[in-house]
Amino acid sequence: MSSNPNVGRSGIVLESRASYDQSDSGQNRWIEVLVDCPEAEAQKRLYTYRLPAQLQVQPGDILSVPFGAQVLGAIAIRICDAPPPDLNPAKIRDVEDVVSAGFFPPTYWQLLNQVAEYYYTQLIQVIRVALPPGLLGRSQRRIRLAPGEGERGGQAGQAGSANYLSPSACQILELLQAQPSGDYSFVYLQRQVRGAYRAIRELLRVKLVESYLEPPRTQRPKLQKAVTLVADVFPLDLTQRQREILEVLRRRGGDLLLTELLQICNASSSTIKTLEQKGCVVIQEREMLRTSAEPILAGDQPKALTPAQSEALEAIASLSSFARVLLHGVTGSGKTEVYLQAIAPILERGQSALVLVPEIGLTPQLTDRFRARFGNKVCVYHSALSDGERYDTWRQMLAGAAQVVIGTRSAIFAPLPRLGLIVLDEEHDSSFKQDQPAPTYHARTVATWRAELENCPLVLGSATPSLETWVNITSQELTSSTENSLTHYLSLPERIQSRPLPPVEVVDMRQELQQGNRSIFSRSLQEGLQQLQDEGKQGILFIHRRGHSTFVSCRSCGYVIECPHCDVSLAYHHTHEEAAELLRCHYCNFVRSHPQSCPECGSPYLKFFGSGTQRVAQELAQQFPQLRYIRFDSDTTRTKGAHRTLLTRFTNGEADLLIGTQMLTKGLDISQVTLVGVVAADGLLHLPDYRASERAFQTLTQVAGRAGRGNDPGQVIIQTYTPEHAVIQAVRRHQYQSFIETELEQREALNYPPYGRLILLRLSSTDAAEVQETAEMLAAGLASNTLQGDSSSDAHPTSPMYEILGPAPASILRVANRYRWQIMLKFAPDSLPELPDFNELRLLCPSSVSLTIDVDPLNLM
Ligand code: ADP
Ligand code: ZN
Ligand code: ZN
Repeated sequence: MSSNPNVGRSGIVLESRASYDQSDSGQNRWIEVLVDCPEAEAQKRLYTYRLPAQLQVQPGDILSVPFGAQVLGAIAIRICDAPPPDLNPAKIRDVEDVVSAGFFPPTYWQLLNQVAEYYYTQLIQVIRVALPPGLLGRSQRRIRLAPGEGERGGQAGQAGSANYLSPSACQILELLQAQPSGDYSFVYLQRQVRGAYRAIRELLRVKLVESYLEPPRTQRPKLQKAVTLVADVFPLDLTQRQREILEVLRRRGGDLLLTELLQICNASSSTIKTLEQKGCVVIQEREMLRTSAEPILAGDQPKALTPAQSEALEAIASLSSFARVLLHGVTGSGKTEVYLQAIAPILERGQSALVLVPEIGLTPQLTDRFRARFGNKVCVYHSALSDGERYDTWRQMLAGAAQVVIGTRSAIFAPLPRLGLIVLDEEHDSSFKQDQPAPTYHARTVATWRAELENCPLVLGSATPSLETWVNITSQELTSSTENSLTHYLSLPERIQSRPLPPVEVVDMRQELQQGNRSIFSRSLQEGLQQLQDEGKQGILFIHRRGHSTFVSCRSCGYVIECPHCDVSLAYHHTHEEAAELLRCHYCNFVRSHPQSCPECGSPYLKFFGSGTQRVAQELAQQFPQLRYIRFDSDTTRTKGAHRTLLTRFTNGEADLLIGTQMLTKGLDISQVTLVGVVAADGLLHLPDYRASERAFQTLTQVAGRAGRGNDPGQVIIQTYTPEHAVIQAVRRHQYQSFIETELEQREALNYPPYGRLILLRLSSTDAAEVQETAEMLAAGLASNTLQGDSSSDAHPTSPMYEILGPAPASILRVANRYRWQIMLKFAPDSLPELPDFNELRLLCPSSVSLTIDVDPLNLM
């Protein structure tokens, strides 16, 4: 190596390059690769290969490697100085070739390594989250003539430098030259020519041929017919019908998929063909990315910003390097418009943006807005994509054109080159955290690292910022000068057009009962619903749970019907009159039919407790038969596209009420909604978790924020048995700041996040005794300091730097027949080096007990 080709590469690559240089002095180099095939995947590990001296390899290159009897695609992950000690170096096989260099952004592997380290996970597990399997699986290695070699014609032996080629190499060259495209699959050549493997190496070395990876043929992008309006002035001999169709096309921006146009106009394709013959439109086959198959709204223009929006946009646009920004905007203050206008100049610069959203249920509205603004530069990336869609998204991402990727938590790993901005919308949402399997990452934490590595700004948007973000941003904001600060607090304190936040009425359900109202709807809510009906407006009812009732119990003996596999009661599910009455476990999905009588005492008097979405819907149908409703929960939105369909039906006015769970809280922007009712807030308030109040405040504020986003003022009614609760009072007064200040005092007093850090060790086993014993043994070891990582250090000879809470059984001990115990470690953020060696802990667990290390856990149940 004469020059230094790795200037500007990441630290990791520089390191590996150092070992490469050594190899020139005769030493071996090894590389760990991810082999892309089901057998290798089942092994859940990386494979080590030797790097031949002449190959230049960087992490992120696509290689071909021998695997068993096959040659397979593999991703170069890590270059090592030494082979693993448990492998016989003589048995390590050579990397065959580099198929495609620089497939991934250079900092990408650094990010994955950082995740593996922080979350105490093996790199392979991080890769499995980041890169969905099968990327290379069906790809095919192909060999083609190098540019210029095809036209030479004649005998291979005459081709200049090819004079000394082996007979097999000549044979291959002839085959390629005889083929018009000059191109064959590697496998085909191997079958046709003896010794093809060696011969191809030979041809590659003298640069007569090239090797490349072709994406799977079955996954070729779909071709679809699109209709484009070409006539400015319509000819006179058109029928009324034909004019209508052209008018529709014009209103939709002059360009639609044929299938869409036919659907919208209820026309036949022969009608469109006639229009083509008359020269009004052209019909063309167009490569349609499956990712953009959802309808694209007519082009949308940037809105004139409010002063607060302009100020926020200017602040974000002025950032050209890493910084964290909290965009704290009340519900309906126009955060999305700020994201859109912040992203536009980034795309113009040829860079890309990553937008993370909590759940896919919220994405149709948001993606529609992005598509309307940026068209097919928008890609959607989430775990529910089909293989074909995922492949298309990958292809578009790796092609490197400027684009916006919108996705859920795992999209933080989207291998997007040239990132200019990362946005986390609704940053407080707990779906950004993965509880299991490992890595137990938080997309916000990973986003911070990624923004740092890519040196771009990270915008965290919310009406109810998490306490972590609040403390992180505001404490640093205060202590550093604003000029070159790494954190910025931006606020949108008002709704668009100075619309007021909706007044929140709190109804004491105890008094309702005292006054003889036994309905699940208070008199206030009944009035509100009546008014909806009278005035033809729309509303939302929020219920904490899906299903009908949270549990069923016997009136005679008190027996509660429980799941046979979990320590929880079964929820009663009954969607409509003719439907089967079912009991369902919300933890393991166990289902049984509803018994006619008590399994314990035979009494026929079973009683339902707790109201889910189904029961509220049924009561509504009884009391307000004219009100049409749509249920919006995970029972009704399971099928693909269901979120979009239900929301479209609702916004089209096909129903008066949306009845749903948590899903309703996430960013819905429906301007006709005037009434929001929270049927029972109490289920949210009393969860056994130090975060319960924060979460309840966020949920209630967000759901309240769905009301009055249009011209008509909104109204919120919260029903509760504890109206005096601090959370309820804060939501009623729209008081974010004073609420979290009180909350933060409590967290600080107890050393809980964001002041302290937590690591939760989750143990589970089908053997109740063994998991308990293991938990006790580990906890004792942790307490006696024998498992402390830095045990040789004299600095802290006795007391561990962390507090141990537990071992304790999980709040639901048994789920799906596994018994669960946990040990919590609590420590100050700066004492990390004193933590125990978690790998050692794993080794101490018997094979029947599984241990998950949840770093910064959010879900303590
Ligand atoms: P948030 O995400 O802050 O709750 P949204 O971004 O959904 O709010 O904006 C609320 C509504 O206001 C949306 O319908 C949006 O189109 C509209 N809007 C946003 N900014 C403006 C603006 N500057 N002028 C007019 N309407 C706007
Ligand atoms: Zn009974
Ligand atoms: Zn169960």
